[in-house]
Amino acid sequence: MKKNGPLLKITFAETMLFFGVGLATVYWILDSALQYLLTTDGDFYRNFIGFDIQDIATRLLALCFFMIFGSHAQYTINKRREAEAALLASEERYRTIIENIEDGYYETDLSGRVNFYNEAAPKILRIEPDALEGTHLRKALRADGDAAVLEMLERVRETGQSAEVLGTDFDDAEGDRRYVEASISLIQDAKGEPSGFRGIIRDVTRRKRAEALQQQKAAAEAANRSKSEFLANMSHEIRTPLNAIIGMVELLKDTKLSAEQQEDLGVVTASSYSLLAIINDILDFSKIEAGKLELEEIPFSLRDFIGETMKIMAQDAHRNGLELACRIASDTPDLVVGDPNRLRQIVLNLIGNAIKFTEAGEVVLEISPENSEGDGAALSFSVRDTGIGIDRSQVGTIFSPFQQADGSTTRRFGGTGLGLAVSRQLVELMDGRIWVESDPGKGSQFHFTARLGLQPEETDRKKPVIADADGKAPRALVVDDNESSRKILAEMLTDWGLAVETAATAEASRNRIERSTDIELMLVDADMPETDGLTLLAEHSGSGPNPVPSILMLTALTRKSLREVAHLGVRATVVKPIGHEDLFSAVQSALGKVPGKEEKHSEAPSGATADTLRAVEILVAEDTPFNQKFISRLLGRWGLRAVIVENGTKALEALSSKRFDVVLMDVQMPEMDGFATTRAIRKKEEQTGDHIPIIAMTAHAMKGDRERCLEAGMDDYVSKPIAAEKLLASITSLVPQKDAPEQAVKVQEPPPSSTALDEQALLKAFDNAEYPAMLAEIRSAVDAGKAKILERTAHTLKGMVGNFRCDEAMEAAYTLEKYGRDNRLGGASEAVETLAAKIDQLDRQLREFLEEFQT
Ligand code: ADP
Repeated sequence: MKKNGPLLKITFAETMLFFGVGLATVYWILDSALQYLLTTDGDFYRNFIGFDIQDIATRLLALCFFMIFGSHAQYTINKRREAEAALLASEERYRTIIENIEDGYYETDLSGRVNFYNEAAPKILRIEPDALEGTHLRKALRADGDAAVLEMLERVRETGQSAEVLGTDFDDAEGDRRYVEASISLIQDAKGEPSGFRGIIRDVTRRKRAEALQQQKAAAEAANRSKSEFLANMSHEIRTPLNAIIGMVELLKDTKLSAEQQEDLGVVTASSYSLLAIINDILDFSKIEAGKLELEEIPFSLRDFIGETMKIMAQDAHRNGLELACRIASDTPDLVVGDPNRLRQIVLNLIGNAIKFTEAGEVVLEISPENSEGDGAALSFSVRDTGIGIDRSQVGTIFSPFQQADGSTTRRFGGTGLGLAVSRQLVELMDGRIWVESDPGKGSQFHFTARLGLQPEETDRKKPVIADADGKAPRALVVDDNESSRKILAEMLTDWGLAVETAATAEASRNRIERSTDIELMLVDADMPETDGLTLLAEHSGSGPNPVPSILMLTALTRKSLREVAHLGVRATVVKPIGHEDLFSAVQSALGKVPGKEEKHSEAPSGATADTLRAVEILVAEDTPFNQKFISRLLGRWGLRAVIVENGTKALEALSSKRFDVVLMDVQMPEMDGFATTRAIRKKEEQTGDHIPIIAMTAHAMKGDRERCLEAGMDDYVSKPIAAEKLLASITSLVPQKDAPEQAVKVQEPPPSSTALDEQALLKAFDNAEYPAMLAEIRSAVDAGKAKILERTAHTLKGMVGNFRCDEAMEAAYTLEKYGRDNRLGGASEAVETLAAKIDQLDRQLREFLEEFQT
């Protein structure tokens, strides 16, 4: 607050001082005149000017007196002026405030009639500016029929306590509801007597609306949460019958069926798997929303994982004529810890979308480290496409559930609009974020970050290097029409220590090779416009006796076995998108660094089949009739005996009355669940010292289930839908084999081969077995990453070729079956080729044999 300081200072120029001096002068003149009149010999002038010391002292005293008097008077005047100015300023200030505040201000007399108000007051109350004057507060506040205003005025008057808030609402001229609040306090006069009321009128419409919205939102969220919880809890109920359907269809497939029935069943299987996928999406979403999904922490190799994941999408991309490529920056850690299944879900969703919404061009996944601190690393992933792009206005909504960029998308491309919502939630669980940049008509780039742990070994991980013994960098030429692929391949090879050149066309490659003979390795894309890779290689190989060792890059649709192209100088083939591991071994074998890619022979079938388990007694605790039937059929098919009970209590009863060799225990059962039952069994065993193997069966896909099962004392764990082979493997590994050797041998026995009829029958059987169709199914399962289908088909094929006692083919099929079972499709493509070759061989041998026999 500014003070009027100078007013209090008194200077000689001030009026009242002059006045004092004036008075002193008058006194002097009067005194001189009086002296003159009172004395006879008086001389006025002498008296007036007189040098009498006494006179002078008296007059000076009088001057001082009057000056003091004058200055005091001046001081008093100044004080008053200052007070008046301050009052004026303060009034001015308060008037300005009152006039300028957004809130309304009013004053009333004691009866409640308004006698003063600011401009905002009638505006807030939505009445004419003059209409407030003289109006009763009750009317002004549009609470006419309401006794509350009168009561409040009365109370404020009696107690002298103010600031009660009075709320009222009304519709304005546009019909919108307005909310107003007013405060009331007492005005008292100088004597402290009540003289009226005053208060503030405030428009709280915005706040009220926000509160209402907030309430609605909270209610909607609560409803949503309970829906999510409901769904998450229903997960078991929904999946169980679906698992049963899938299981039963799988069983049916292995029975004798006509081709038509097989085909129909194929449709049922495909539909049930796609229904399962949608349900899984919805359940995942709900589970995450309800806070019930936790991530696993599994050590894995990022590069292997990405290689496998990309392969799953290869066929879709190549079928649409798209280039699918992946670049992993060389400083990206490899040995990480995280939840690969959930990470795969995100990557597959983004790449799947990119392929779906891209008509021509490419889809490129890039991974680089964002930062690493402590024992973890934040990685940055991006999926770029050259597709239709996303409109700017839609960019914000597509990560919300059930949102698609525009309604027509569903019709054109299908989908539920849940993929990105689930991805976003998963990314957030991985401490990351997901966003998109898009240029409509040109393409989109989805980015996400994720925090993964690092395995301790990561610090000592050596970068793989390929160099000649003398340390010289082998010179390689990459021939690929796609720029991204060229760049990525060149980067990978350079990283391994090769000197790399690139060519975008066969023509450019030709020129380079003709210029000098220093190229030691060529990587050639089979699928190029104009001159394709095979033609280029044919040219090169035709021009000299020693063609440059080459790696042929194929697509999922243009596969060729090495045998078919070896004569072109091709030393290895790789299928795009090319994973690190695949390319590394291809380069090594092409450069003769190793005697070729070591075939990872899995151990041959051990012969531990269901037959060796014939005498085993199995107790199954499972409550759902579907699953009871499925398991009993499955076990029945293997010739195993089982007693089925529907809950834990019955299981305990059964165990106390009979000896069993193994228990299959459903985890979720009424009355006594699998965990409690297992604990009870283990407790009892503490006295006897026995240990019956217990295998948990659960439809849960939640983190920690395995640990919970093992912690409860179970020995193994199979998840539903139950993979038959997995269950059998589990039983076989846990149950001490009470073998029935004759039967086991019987299965392994060679088919009779001594008569012509048998051979013919064999060939017929072989023809009927539709092995090409099965091989094709295996191929597409490998390409699409459908591990289950791979496992199943390879298993059937294994049985089939087993009948011909073709051990090599059987082994190849078994390798594939294992790849499928372990969900490890990385090296499966090669195993498929081996299997194809072996079956080819078997076919040829059988036919030759028959021809020989007939002639
Ligand atoms: P869905 O694909 O099942 O509809 P998503 O949640 O995966 O559901 O995607 C939501 C929407 O985002 C899609 O319907 C599509 O409109 C848009 N979208 C996603 N990815 C892309 C992309 N790569 N290019 C263009 N649009 C995309």
